[in-house]
Amino acid sequence: MRTQTSASPTSSGTASSTESAIELSDVDFGYTSSPVVEEISLRIDPGEYVAVVGPNGSGKSTLMQLMLGLLRPDEGVARLFGESAHQFDDGERIGYVAQHASASKEMPITVREVVKMGRFPHVGFGRLSSEDWDIVDRALDTVGMAAFSNRRVTQLSGGQRQRAFIARALASEADLLVLDEPTVGVDMESVEAFYNLLGSLNSDGITVLLIEHDLGAVTEHTDRVICLNREIYFDGSANEFVESDALARAFGTTADLLGGSR
Ligand code: ADP
Repeated sequence: MRTQTSASPTSSGTASSTESAIELSDVDFGYTSSPVVEEISLRIDPGEYVAVVGPNGSGKSTLMQLMLGLLRPDEGVARLFGESAHQFDDGERIGYVAQHASASKEMPITVREVVKMGRFPHVGFGRLSSEDWDIVDRALDTVGMAAFSNRRVTQLSGGQRQRAFIARALASEADLLVLDEPTVGVDMESVEAFYNLLGSLNSDGITVLLIEHDLGAVTEHTDRVICLNREIYFDGSANEFVESDALARAFGTTADLLGGSR
C-alpha cells in the first residue's frame, strides 16, 4: 500500500528526519570519459512537487535515470527511498511515465488493460481480484479516463495517453511519479488539465518529479525547480527561480524563456 505522508510539499529540499524519496550525494556520471552530470547533490522528500529544467543535452534524462537506478553513478551515491538506487526492488512504488508515453504504440491493447498492468506487481501472475479491479477503475476515474477504458491506447491523443499511463502508476499504488517531458505534443488546453491532475495527485501525497521543457508551466505549477546544465545551477522554489539569473546562466541566453506566462 502506498503510505500517506504527513510531509507537506516544501519549496526546497529542507533537511528533515523523514526518509527521502530521492537522494543523490556528489554524483558524477558520463557515458564516455567526459562527464554528463557532475557534483550533483540533492534530496527530494516525500510529498514534494519538483521539476528538472535545462537546455537540450544538459543531462536531465541522465539525471533521472541515475535517480531511478537505471544508471549507476561513476562517483557518489544515489538512493531511492533510502536504498541504493540500482538495488531498489520495490518497483511498484515508482510510476514512470516515459517521454511521449509511446511505448505501447504497437500494442493493440485497451486503456483498461494498460491500467490493469499496474496491479501485476501486486498479484504476480495470478488473477486480479474484484478489489484489484476496483483499484483499476478508481485509477481510471481519477485521471478522467473511465469513458475511454475500452479504447485502444493507439487511438488516444497524446494527453489521453499520458493520463492512461498515470492511471497505471496509480493502480500500482506508486508513491513517486516520475515523468519525462510529459506534455510534449499535448495541446495547450490538455496541458492545463494535465497539470491540474498532477497537482491534485500531489495534494493527495504523491511525490511528483518531472522533466519539463515548458518553463512557463513549470513555474506556474510546481513548487521546486532544479535547473541543470551538467551541474545544478539552481535548486529552490519556483518563485525564486523566476527572480534568479539561473535561467540565463544555464541556458546561456537572456531570451524570455518563460514565455511571458507569469
Ligand atoms: P537532456 O535530457 O537534458 O536532453 P540527456 O541526459 O539526454 O540530456 O543527454 C545529456 C548528454 O549525454 C548529451 O550530450 C547526450 O548526447 C549524451 N547521452 C545521452 N544518452 C546517451 C547514451 N545512451 N550514450 C551516450 N551519450 C548519451
